[in-house]
Amino acid sequence: FEGMTTVELAKRTGQSISKLQDILLNVGEKVESEFDPLNIDVAELVGMEVGVNVRRIHSAEGEKVLPRPAVVTVMGHVDHGKTSLLDALRQTSVAAREAGGITQHLGAFVVSMPSGAAITFLDTPGHAAFSAMRARGAAVTDIVVLVVAADDGVMPQTLEAMSHAKAANVPIVVAVNKCDKPAADPERVKVQLASEGLPLEEMGGDVQVVEVSAMKKTGLDKLEEALLLQAELMDLKARTDGPAQAYVVEARLDRGRGPLATAIVKAGTLSCGQIVVVGSEWGRIRAIRDMVGQLAAQATPAMPVEIEGLKGLPMAGDDIVVVDSEERARMLSAGRKKKYEKDRLRKIEEERLDIPDVEE
Ligand code: GDP
Ligand code: MG
Repeated sequence: FEGMTTVELAKRTGQSISKLQDILLNVGEKVESEFDPLNIDVAELVGMEVGVNVRRIHSAEGEKVLPRPAVVTVMGHVDHGKTSLLDALRQTSVAAREAGGITQHLGAFVVSMPSGAAITFLDTPGHAAFSAMRARGAAVTDIVVLVVAADDGVMPQTLEAMSHAKAANVPIVVAVNKCDKPAADPERVKVQLASEGLPLEEMGGDVQVVEVSAMKKTGLDKLEEALLLQAELMDLKARTDGPAQAYVVEARLDRGRGPLATAIVKAGTLSCGQIVVVGSEWGRIRAIRDMVGQLAAQATPAMPVEIEGLKGLPMAGDDIVVVDSEERARMLSAGRKKKYEKDRLRKIEEERLDIPDVEE
């Protein structure tokens, strides 16, 4: 969507211009001429009314494009050491050390390297989180760390993770974990991965493999280097000025502070005081905190932050958009709630119809 007019929206939705003008009036939008560009929030509302998805394309606004940290998700078979690896990586974080190791649980953390480079890790391992986020259109992950236990080798969820990454077009860096174990056989793991079609670097492909032990904390620096190298190859950049485009990676209810959402900005800058619509919820950002709980005025790309001030609890994968007024936020939130409920009921109905008749 880029400044579409009522005329164009009519063409795209197959609705008459007068019908769209009625809807515009209903949502309180005064549009002088059907040739005037519509506001994106208004277009989304109209789209929801006529059952058409209006996708937001954030592009040209703002021009400061800078390198940004990679956002990494850890996946792999159960018990292969995903949680242990994330814990070990978290401890290598400079910020964590400076804060005396007291990092609040945000659902994401940043490892800052001595060189100044940084890597953002999403803290919820697992395929469900990854797929759920993707299903909601939240392409947050840049790189997947595929954890494979050196003693256990490739298992069903290893293959599942590989296919998720492939489907999302996200490159893999393999961490062969538990290399401290006497039964560890990293070479066997590599042969297995290669025979499953993963093009490993040492066999002429482009997938890096690093041997680690989350327990003994060995190989972590090599893994971080491999991730930085992969990120460099991808030339990850983001617009840092202009309106924020962000996603929720985790949300929780705090007794004193109300709904809290961990967000990762994809582009632009999210600022304190802004009015946002988050999935079907909305609010005015009252506080932004970084991963060590320090108040920040703003959040920039790939930096995980906790935002406070939402009226309700959003879900992982929800998008965060900045809007101009509380009135518009309320309207968009209400419109989306209605649409989500409709989608939910339709899905239940479809599932009901999908159940085959059982013959006695
Ligand atoms: P997850 O299910 O993938 O999150 O796996 P966990 O991190 O919970 O680890 C599963 C088990 O493997 C735990 O008992 C860990 O202590 C153990 N483990 C994890 N990493 C290592 C490692 O590098 N070496 C050894 N020997 N054990 C490990
Ligand atoms: Mg775990």
